[in-house]
Amino acid sequence: MQAAAFHCSAHLSEDELLPPDPACPFCNSEARVPVTSLQENPTVALMHCRHCDATSASRMPRPEVLERYYGDYYEDQPEQVTFDRPERLASHIIRHTFASLGQLGERDVLIVDFGGGDGTHSVLAARQLLERGARTVRIVLVDHNPTTTTVDDTRIVVVRAKDLAEIPHAAADLVLASAILEHIPYPKDTLAMLFAALRPGGMFYARTPYVVPLMKLARIAHLDLDFTYPGHVHDLGARFWNGVGEHLDLGVPIEIIRSTPSIVETTFDQHFGRTLAAYVLKAPSHLLKERYGLVGGWEVFIRRVPGEARRH
Ligand SMILES: [Zn+2]
Repeated sequence: MQAAAFHCSAHLSEDELLPPDPACPFCNSEARVPVTSLQENPTVALMHCRHCDATSASRMPRPEVLERYYGDYYEDQPEQVTFDRPERLASHIIRHTFASLGQLGERDVLIVDFGGGDGTHSVLAARQLLERGARTVRIVLVDHNPTTTTVDDTRIVVVRAKDLAEIPHAAADLVLASAILEHIPYPKDTLAMLFAALRPGGMFYARTPYVVPLMKLARIAHLDLDFTYPGHVHDLGARFWNGVGEHLDLGVPIEIIRSTPSIVETTFDQHFGRTLAAYVLKAPSHLLKERYGLVGGWEVFIRRVPGEARRH
């Protein structure tokens, strides 16, 4: 799923919306406060959860509305990889997971790529794992997008799973959820299934938009920063991800290996102004940590605590 593919918010009518739900879609807490409005008539607001720090829409689109939304999208145009040079993201993920995965020497590695479009990024990641000693890499791809990228290396096998119920249990070395969780109205079970797929010692990578602080600043300057609802229904930043093990029931013990502003999607040679703005905005975060939110996106590398016996 490519987040930047959904450029504009759509206005949803009453019959396209589920009833308001007072509970946070991540942790079920009702301790939520409104942050800003997404649309009027009928009102949909962004609600911040004081328990888990997720920010989510107060009303979710009905499943059939989202199906139509994404269905139209895939019919209208072939999916574009919006990341300038996708090998940058793959290198970035492998660089920050490899040390934690332990010795790969001649092992068969399993990647679960949830929402990974046609598998471009996971296949590039697989190539790097082969270079680093893996014997084979099997990728289980779960995505609406029906096309699969071509693979010219027999050591890489891509299989498609219809949904998360079909993904392997406690077996994945790497689970990717890059720019996808923000699209899922009720992601609690999804997250639990993704973590259940990890083998002990396996790594989970997620990348999510974190734009609410930027939206607040833009409003002061009388600018409109589009949240792209209902394409995006959540906003997840530093505090959410840093507390995810404490506030959510993920079903397995985890440790956060790295939690930072997300990798800049564009490169100077292809999108100079946008790339410069992204680096400048993200820079103060290294010093100010969680207190600074003007970063646009967050990413996290989480490891399932190793030490239990492997089941395969
Ligand atoms: Zn919550």
